Amino acid sequence: MSFDQASPLQSRSFWQHAYGEYSPNSPLAEDLKVDVAIVGGGFTGLNTAWQFKKDNPNARVVVLEAAIIGFGASGRNAGFSTKMFGLEPEVVLLRWGKQKMIDAHHYLKLAVAHTKHLIEDNGFQSDYEHRGLVRATYTKQQLGRMQKTYELFQNLGIDEDMVWRGAEQFRQDFHSERFAGGIYESNTGYLNPCKQVRALKSLAESAGVSIYETTPVTKIERTSSAIVVTTPNGKITSDKLVIATNAYTRQVPGPQRLRSRQYPLWTYQIVTEPLSDAQWDSIGWKERQSFGDNRQMLHYFRPTTDGRIIMGGGDVIPYRTGAKEEIPAPAAWQHCEEHLKWIYPQLKNIRIDYRWGGPVSVTMDAAPEISFIEDERMIYSGGCFGHGVALTHLNGRTIADLLEGKKTELTEFWIVNRKSLSMSSDTLSFLGGGVARGALKAWDWWEERSLKGGRVETAVVGR
Ligand SMILES: Cc1cc2nc3c(=O)[nH]c(=O)nc-3n(C[C@H](O)[C@H](O)[C@H](O)COP(=O)(O)OP(=O)(O)OC[C@H]3O[C@@H](n4cnc5c(N)ncnc54)[C@H](O)[C@@H]3O)c2cc1C
Repeated sequence: MSFDQASPLQSRSFWQHAYGEYSPNSPLAEDLKVDVAIVGGGFTGLNTAWQFKKDNPNARVVVLEAAIIGFGASGRNAGFSTKMFGLEPEVVLLRWGKQKMIDAHHYLKLAVAHTKHLIEDNGFQSDYEHRGLVRATYTKQQLGRMQKTYELFQNLGIDEDMVWRGAEQFRQDFHSERFAGGIYESNTGYLNPCKQVRALKSLAESAGVSIYETTPVTKIERTSSAIVVTTPNGKITSDKLVIATNAYTRQVPGPQRLRSRQYPLWTYQIVTEPLSDAQWDSIGWKERQSFGDNRQMLHYFRPTTDGRIIMGGGDVIPYRTGAKEEIPAPAAWQHCEEHLKWIYPQLKNIRIDYRWGGPVSVTMDAAPEISFIEDERMIYSGGCFGHGVALTHLNGRTIADLLEGKKTELTEFWIVNRKSLSMSSDTLSFLGGGVARGALKAWDWWEERSLKGGRVETAVVGR
């Protein structure tokens, strides 16, 4: 499905579907002069807009969104507000070293707290639950690797809310024979991303931010005195510009340096019908935590407030067509359903009510970034991998500080103005993504070869 003005309401995530009818704001239909323009109406764009406007009530701030608010990852994600960062912890350690890993942990810890306070202080009805995260394993090999991860967290002193639990405890807590053990982490939460993004929209608008939806930015030009942003029916002349387009950034018109900073990979999700009380009793899971396993092709799952289970992941798919295309992935959805039912045979007859997917933004060097592009008038943020919910909320505060020219503890975080490795060619990035995906899938196969009658490996072919 193409990313045009007709599609945003058709290509919806479960959250958007469940939320019901939505009337987007009118598109930009005039020329305006503003202080700050923001391209992209997801968590990054809306948080930045609100934070900056709150600090500068007289500033003129606009958000330009090509589709509808939350059309991108912010309206499609699983809603985990976690301290996870970049790729696997071991990869981050290898590439960035101990101190940067510790700093990233502290930034993400702050991000989870910041997101929770934002929700509570502003009375958001976004179903936030601070219920913790379980990092699970299925095999001896995965368990050994998870134990090393836990030791790493302990050695770095970043294990403050974590406890180790063995297979027996998992069996008692989750009534499943499939878990080999893992980590229970208490200081994380989850939310309903569509409710969150729309609450952010209202908050920003109530502060005086102007939000234009179905307004794609088609051209970005720099002059010595301003940045000029073109949309189909109006131009914005702005002192500063924030590019908050995440996995869509390759298709944003602008400097090549901007387009080659990240690559989109798609992850897919399913949601069950609401479970009955008896079904919930049959699977335990009384604390209703969120879950992530430590496969290379991670699965993530969580309950919803209306008693469903969301299951996602098991694969990430590069597409040659770019992030704007909506590409159904029946094999990925089937894999998610089989995986859920493999963990919980008790739910073998459960109905799957909805299936969807979305692009995450990945960088070559395993970490996100917030960077000035060419000079301090243009700021880009991206590369959040699948861990951008809490991160983008705090990044909004960080970007607002950068826009104001402030030097704060947040703007000193090492992802700010780091130089990410360039991925200039679409074809090479696509091929590289395919090779990496194949290698990671082989790794999972090797670690799970002992699982007799286990998951069926899917054969999703990237396009
Ligand atoms: C399926 C899925 C599950 C995920 N699960 C989790 C999770 O549980 N926890 C977690 O922490 N993270 C998760 N993530 C990642 C997280 O959702 C993202 O990191 C985060 O939402 C990124 O927010 P953003 O505002 O930077 O980008 P987005 O929400 O992608 O917003 C970018 C916006 O830019 C707009 N845009 C693009 N081009 C233009 C243009 N030319 N003009 C105007 N607007 C434009 C797009 O329409 C889009 O709305 C998940 C992601 C996906 C896809």
